[in-house]
Amino acid sequence: LISRLRAVELLGTMQGGYNVGTLVELLSGDDAELKASAAHQLKHTLLVFDAFHDVVELYNGGNEAAKEVLESWAAAEWFTSKPDIPEKITVTVFKVTGETNTDDLSPAQDAWSRPDVPLHALAMLKNERDGIVPELDGEIGPLGQIDELLQKGHPLAYVGDVVGTGSSRKSATNSVLWFMGEDIPYVPNMKTGGVCIGGKIAPIFFNTMEDSGALPIEMDVSDLNTGDVVDIFPYEGEVVDRACDEVIATFELKTNVLLDEVRAGGRIPLIIGRGITSKARVALGRDASVADTFNLPIAPTDTPKGYSLAQKMVGKACGVDGVPPGQYCEPTMTTVGSQDTTGPMTRDELKSLACLGFSADLVMQSFCHTAAYPKPVDVVTHHTLPDFIQTRGGVSLRPGDGIIHSWLNRMLVPDTVGTGGDSHTRFPLGVSFPAGSGLVAFAAATGVFPLDMPESVLVRFTGTMQPGITLRDLVQAIPYTAIQNGLLTIEKKGKKNVFSGRVLEIEGLPDLKCEQAFELSDASAERSAAGCTIKLNKEPVIEYLQSNVVMLKWMISEGYGDPRTLERRIARMEDWLANPHLMEADDNAEYAEIIEINMDEIKEPILALPNDPDASALLSEVAGDKIDEVFIGSCMTNIGHFRAAGKLLADNKSATLPTRLWVSPPTKMDAAQLSEEGYYSTFGTAGARMEMPGCSLCMGNQARVEPGCTVVSTSTRNFPNRLGQGSNVYLASAELAAIASIEGKLPTVDEYMSYMSNVNATAADTYRYLNFDELPEFVEASDKVEISDEMREAAKKLSIL
Ligand code: SF4
Repeated sequence: LISRLRAVELLGTMQGGYNVGTLVELLSGDDAELKASAAHQLKHTLLVFDAFHDVVELYNGGNEAAKEVLESWAAAEWFTSKPDIPEKITVTVFKVTGETNTDDLSPAQDAWSRPDVPLHALAMLKNERDGIVPELDGEIGPLGQIDELLQKGHPLAYVGDVVGTGSSRKSATNSVLWFMGEDIPYVPNMKTGGVCIGGKIAPIFFNTMEDSGALPIEMDVSDLNTGDVVDIFPYEGEVVDRACDEVIATFELKTNVLLDEVRAGGRIPLIIGRGITSKARVALGRDASVADTFNLPIAPTDTPKGYSLAQKMVGKACGVDGVPPGQYCEPTMTTVGSQDTTGPMTRDELKSLACLGFSADLVMQSFCHTAAYPKPVDVVTHHTLPDFIQTRGGVSLRPGDGIIHSWLNRMLVPDTVGTGGDSHTRFPLGVSFPAGSGLVAFAAATGVFPLDMPESVLVRFTGTMQPGITLRDLVQAIPYTAIQNGLLTIEKKGKKNVFSGRVLEIEGLPDLKCEQAFELSDASAERSAAGCTIKLNKEPVIEYLQSNVVMLKWMISEGYGDPRTLERRIARMEDWLANPHLMEADDNAEYAEIIEINMDEIKEPILALPNDPDASALLSEVAGDKIDEVFIGSCMTNIGHFRAAGKLLADNKSATLPTRLWVSPPTKMDAAQLSEEGYYSTFGTAGARMEMPGCSLCMGNQARVEPGCTVVSTSTRNFPNRLGQGSNVYLASAELAAIASIEGKLPTVDEYMSYMSNVNATAADTYRYLNFDELPEFVEASDKVEISDEMREAAKKLSIL
């Protein structure tokens, strides 16, 4: 047994949440010793949420212990009692040359073990590559190499030419820190701190590192090699090689707040703690400013002449006209998404934030990444996560429903801001800033999101889309043109990427349907952009929302929860539909770069080459390459793609395909409609392998293509080993993919155009989208759903955000 005093001390080791009520209660108890101990513990507890007001109430009633706590919070002792960042940090370099994407650090096939950080970390860098020797190739990473480097007596720093591209998964950060970070007292199986140095660090990965308390530094890494022992001088911005005592690189920290974040144990504790310090000062009758203690974000001195679309949307979510690039802000989060391979981590982060109810207006959970071939651990998640989300007021989909984005996009309110724990959370309406699970949990729990407003790059399409050209070709035209303009390079060493960390803003295609617009915004993830906006006309948005209102009402009738959240969202959409208005960029908005793409000049398909989504080529440059397998699916597809593929396959008179064809519609509604229209019969006759609606091959953690084969895929990204071990993957349109499946090779442009003539002739029938307000089954169900006055009132209040 432990003493009462020890019990209080142990309560204080929890970061917040369920312990807070008891500690606050003890402040007004009779036992002086326990009272003093509870006060001591509360001084260093930040996740107190509403209990802050209970402490203030006690203070106002003359409680001395409560006063002591408030004084400590006001003095920021939770921060100042932590050691300052040292002048010099000595590390041993662990260098991974080329590009490290998050799949290398947290492989998709090992997604099931992500919540168990030490176990999952075993898979970090499990595939052999330049300078990396895995313990067991394809299964266990370079543990021996890491151990050997640690023998030098210093912590390791992760160093790479390009680090952290790809997904937003925090598990990638967790794995790096497991080997290179520091223990957190009383928190098992998690680490904080650590140093990550990259010639380029992908923005989401950079943020996730910040959230974890690590020190990410961008600088030239050419003179850093595995095994080097170097001194990092964070204040001076220098790296000195101990072997020769020479400065081998210089750097500037990305923000003036970064070292405070490291000292506080991460960006999230810093934001929450700064808020408590400020509020405590006010409660004690002092000035709210905390500038004497913290380095606060510096507001940009130049205010732009006009605002871009993204800057206006974020401005609206902050209650101002616009937010200039470089400005720190905390926009209201209207919509937050969570998928199932990062969901269990988000759940754990929500628990550690002691979140019992979401403040974000709509939080949605999907099961698209694991539903098709679940492992036992996934099945447990399928059974438990829906309740966890719904009891906090969130909306939960069900296994088999389909891909997160194909659903979440249908819940969006125009011109609002959101986030999600999937790097492809890229709203076609409004703007989203995808993030790691820590930040997503923070956004869901608090309803706001810390953001340094990024600069914007404008991509302006002009001219007319040419026959046979698909939207997917326009998606690939963006990196293709950027490469030609010298704004993007494929070479990882000294990589140039004009989009990295910026908002990609697209104009010139205003009549796209929202489903089509998502193809463009979705692919902004592959550009490493922070977010994306698409300028659309009102008409397609009205059409989309009218359809979505019916879909959401149908969801309520089908028993999806939380029904109040769905009701409130419907009311909000109807509110917008009653007076439809879309924001527009100012004419004098400023962009870091403007890229013009003339569609008149795009006369043949553009593909992404194996195995880099940026590497782009015209079909004529790669025609004839033999293709073994074809995948038509992922969030880059919608029902029109499957009709087009079906028509091409139906026209094929040869008995069997020379390729293995995989088909996976994005949602169960798409699958049902395609089945009703006879396309499933066509796919079946062609010998296609039909997969459950969901991410399917795209994620690479479910079924996979044969090792070493060559693939044409409609999925989002083609990083090495993602679809199959050693596979070579072209990314292309569903139309080109279907033709490749028939031909067993990439067709010539003439062959392609000849196949496409039939698709072009029946385009109006092919490219129809799922308008639920025109489908009797959905209309009938939705007619029975009433929206309460209470939810209409709540929606009206929220509509100003
Ligand atoms: S389809 Fe692919 S890119 Fe889209 S959400 Fe699923 S795994 Fe991510």
